[in-house]
Amino acid sequence: MAASELISPNLTHMDAPQQRDLDRCVHCGLCLNACPTYRELGLEMDSPRGRIYQMVQVATGAAPISDSYQEHIDLCLACRACETACPSGVQYGRLVEAARAEIEHQIHRPWHIRLLRTLVFQGLLPSRAGLRLAAGLLWAYRASGLQKLARSTGMLGQMGKLGRLEKLAPDAELPTFFTQYGKVFPAQAATRYRVAFLGGCIANISFARLHEATVRVLRMNGCEVTVPDNQTCCGALHVHAGMRELARALAKQNIDALLKGSYDAIITNAAGCGSTLKEYHELLEHDPDYAMRAHEFTAKVKDVTEFLAGLELNMSMRSLDVTVTYQDSCHLAHGQKIKSAPRQLLNAIPGLRFREMPSADICCGSAGIYNVVENEMSMAILEKKMVNVNRTQAEVIATANPGCMLQLRAGATLHGSGQRVAHVVELLDEAYQPG
Ligand code: SF4
Ligand code: SF4
Repeated sequence: MAASELISPNLTHMDAPQQRDLDRCVHCGLCLNACPTYRELGLEMDSPRGRIYQMVQVATGAAPISDSYQEHIDLCLACRACETACPSGVQYGRLVEAARAEIEHQIHRPWHIRLLRTLVFQGLLPSRAGLRLAAGLLWAYRASGLQKLARSTGMLGQMGKLGRLEKLAPDAELPTFFTQYGKVFPAQAATRYRVAFLGGCIANISFARLHEATVRVLRMNGCEVTVPDNQTCCGALHVHAGMRELARALAKQNIDALLKGSYDAIITNAAGCGSTLKEYHELLEHDPDYAMRAHEFTAKVKDVTEFLAGLELNMSMRSLDVTVTYQDSCHLAHGQKIKSAPRQLLNAIPGLRFREMPSADICCGSAGIYNVVENEMSMAILEKKMVNVNRTQAEVIATANPGCMLQLRAGATLHGSGQRVAHVVELLDEAYQPG
């Protein structure tokens, strides 16, 4: 009998598409070698096939949501490399999201964890004021010399996990990108497209210069760029943490803010955000007021590399004398199936020497906040990634997602030769600047 016919009615987050995915898995194991946690541990229960088996056990009531189940699901990076590898078309990403939503719904976390999650997911990420405060604190930590002192005295090394996490913490780039909200930036020459830019949440404070570069590159390519004022966090981190109701509220706010401008495209430079933005129609499929609008919205969402690669690119660039390798962002390569666009853009830059690294589409260990909550596994994956990066002898590691940039920067410091890490559009922006 198919697993979907046995699904327990108590499971509220296993909808029909997820139930079909459970049935579709034929347990062939062809996804195992694509899975970073299986490659690291060699354990069936930490492979896609093993996790799907456990999901079926829970979904049919044959096993409870135990601590062990939660650990195996938590250890998954949600990188979706198994989706790309699967010949049966199992959409594992939505399976793991449903499993996490079910865990979130059924387990009772200790009060301090609940408080922390509420502060981060409800208080910080969707709040411009909260993010600005965080930017101020990060800036003060660096500007006061405290960061330098902590790093030079070896104090961080004695702080265990906290010390390791400090290396991954984003810096604040002031002024934040929030100062650009509500503005319209005209195209550099004739306007070919009217696009909206979505700034996200943390990227507005930690990648403000990347956002500015993205706007410049779009303008150089005939785009009038609007940064709509009422936009908010895309909800990707909420979806990955199983908080689908919160993600739905954010999705609705973004649809209201970004659809009314009748833009040709809604652009993001964060692959993790883009992947979730392109799935708003799944998130809101049962909402009578937003289901149709969500479809209209997702049809317009484009990753910036996807959008630019689809244009007749402005080739008025100077030469960049640099060797670059590219790390696929999982949510671009596996979530959105976009692999050639960023490579095409890099190869279009005069003088740039592109060197492909082995296993470029295996996760770097970043995966949203995975590198914080599953730091040990994340660091083990990063170390292996850097072996492949180092083999290319590239001076620059390009990627297409701010989260991957933070992780790879830590990798370049810990296991590399101090390579520079840049977003693809930052390299394009440099090529467009006068030398
Ligand atoms: S998820 Fe796909 S590749 Fe992996 S075991 Fe199931 S059917 Fe095979
Ligand atoms: S999403 Fe990534 S980590 Fe999770 S099971 Fe699939 S390949 Fe493994």
